[in-house]
Amino acid sequence: MKYQSTRGDRTPRAFCDILLEGLAPDGGLYLPTHYPQVDEATLARWRGLPYAELAFEILALYIDDIPAADLRRLAHETYTAATFGSAAITPLVKLEEGLYLQALSNGPTLAFKDMAMQLLGRLFEYELARRGEQLNILGATSGDTGSAAEYAMRGKKGVRVFMLSPYGRMSAFQQAQMFSLQDANIHNLAVEGVFDDCQDIVKALGNDLDFKRRYRIGTVNSINWARLLAQVVYYFAGYFQATRGNGERVSFAVPSGNFGNICAGHVARSMGLPIEKLVLATNENDVLDEFFRSGRYRVRGSAETFETSSPSMDISKASNFERFVFDLLGRDAARTAALFGPLLEHEGGFTLEAAALERAAGCGFVSGRSTHADRLATIRDTWQRLRVMIDPHTADGLKVAREHLQPGVPMLVLETALPAKFAETIQEALGRDPERPAALRGLEALPRRVTVLPADAQQVKRYIEAHCG
Ligand SMILES: *Cc1c(COP(=O)(O)O)cnc(C)c1O
Repeated sequence: MKYQSTRGDRTPRAFCDILLEGLAPDGGLYLPTHYPQVDEATLARWRGLPYAELAFEILALYIDDIPAADLRRLAHETYTAATFGSAAITPLVKLEEGLYLQALSNGPTLAFKDMAMQLLGRLFEYELARRGEQLNILGATSGDTGSAAEYAMRGKKGVRVFMLSPYGRMSAFQQAQMFSLQDANIHNLAVEGVFDDCQDIVKALGNDLDFKRRYRIGTVNSINWARLLAQVVYYFAGYFQATRGNGERVSFAVPSGNFGNICAGHVARSMGLPIEKLVLATNENDVLDEFFRSGRYRVRGSAETFETSSPSMDISKASNFERFVFDLLGRDAARTAALFGPLLEHEGGFTLEAAALERAAGCGFVSGRSTHADRLATIRDTWQRLRVMIDPHTADGLKVAREHLQPGVPMLVLETALPAKFAETIQEALGRDPERPAALRGLEALPRRVTVLPADAQQVKRYIEAHCG
């Protein structure tokens, strides 16, 4: 399997060539040259497999530069009941006839990003050891991504993490989750500023090419193909749990922000998994809902990007969306490059023709949006009638899922976080605190390891230099 860029660079690259990279050199995103096809017989064979073994089978279709025995070992080390809370790894919870939650949030940081990040940590460690290299991951977080990255990379050889977060601006739980990590290779840098300041510093240091090369600075952002690939697995796992075979189809509802999670669903469907609908749910930041309704993709400015009670979906543009548009345009790289390069930059968006929107529908895509009031109502209804507590992001997904139910087609709502992470909104909806997994009780009382720095790129740079032995 080889990888190419959505903007036309067709230099053949193997999986491990792109594993540690961000964007392709031409500014595009990496995609495999084709999606391997999975037939009925293969689906039947995979149906009974444990999650780790299913993960190995799918990964092996896209990764041919890691020996199979090693890849299998990495998958088995990653997807354990000890890390993800159950042997099923992503079990289904039945809400009503034909309506399920797929639990993706029982990993170490209680959000679905662990599903991919835990594998990424092991892949990074493996590949860096093989090359005899080291990597310093520099990132900015306002919550979920940073903690998932830290829990994935903690104690991994050859990797250091420098994670910037806005000082005092994350939830008490999120701060405790990150700052309580005592691993020597994890550096929490609380920046006296807002999230945008953190991001600006990461960008400034990323543009310092000499520094970047000398200290081997890398990222773990959501455009990494390995993360997307790891997410493909749970679409198959969900399908197998909801069906018995015999040509049945299922739909998935996906709380969406950067389009990473649902893009994995698009890949699974493109491989031949019988997915009827991919239901994309946004919150008030409805860039993607607008696209699927109108064909217009319009990036929002910061004044138009709202802080909502499902904060991990508060995006102004969807960083993985280019992958899907590339497929939608019949993999026309020149046109993709024009849309996502000059047009986005100078006009803040583009509109695709009706035929392209029809093809998106042909790929199963439908969409909807949800508001704060919808989230509260959905959390309340799900708790009062069904005795299941869901988090605000999952509530966005469930609200929109209900608008797209079809008789005879099971609907699986992806649970992207646990309510324990969002106690404030749960209090507002239910007048009570969410339950917290036993292992995380008392988290706020643990000793903390964090360095407070001013919002100044030079000081962050000096800190990194001083801590790269
Ligand atoms: C990251 C995240 C999302 C959005 O996922 P994308 O892959 O960016 O679309 C939704 N919910 C939660 C809880 C998240 O952490």
